[in-house]
Amino acid sequence: MSEDLAKPGWKQIPIAGVPFKKATEYHTGDWRTFKPVIDQSKCTKCLTCWIFCPDDSIVWDGNTVQVDYRYCKGCGICAEMCPVKAITMVKEE
Ligand code: SF4
Ligand code: SF4
Repeated sequence: MSEDLAKPGWKQIPIAGVPFKKATEYHTGDWRTFKPVIDQSKCTKCLTCWIFCPDDSIVWDGNTVQVDYRYCKGCGICAEMCPVKAITMVKEE
């Protein structure tokens, strides 16, 4: 067997964003380097961040806008799009 054939194929690679597995079946937030933090004193609850979040990680808890860190990948789109700059991207510890 040649060296290339001995390498693991796609079926052996651990699941991490493979398109045929739903994002709800694993926590994509594990990939994050920066996390969005919402300043509730600035947030106007316009939900622009919810519209643009590609991971459906902005959640309304009935009173405030929150981030579901289990799935947020830290892309920063919400922080870019927030019209009042209520979201700051903070490095994960
Ligand atoms: S876009 Fe900004 S102001 Fe609007 S809900 Fe999100 S955090 Fe709040
Ligand atoms: S950082 Fe990206 S994935 Fe996380 S809440 Fe904001 S837009 Fe969604």
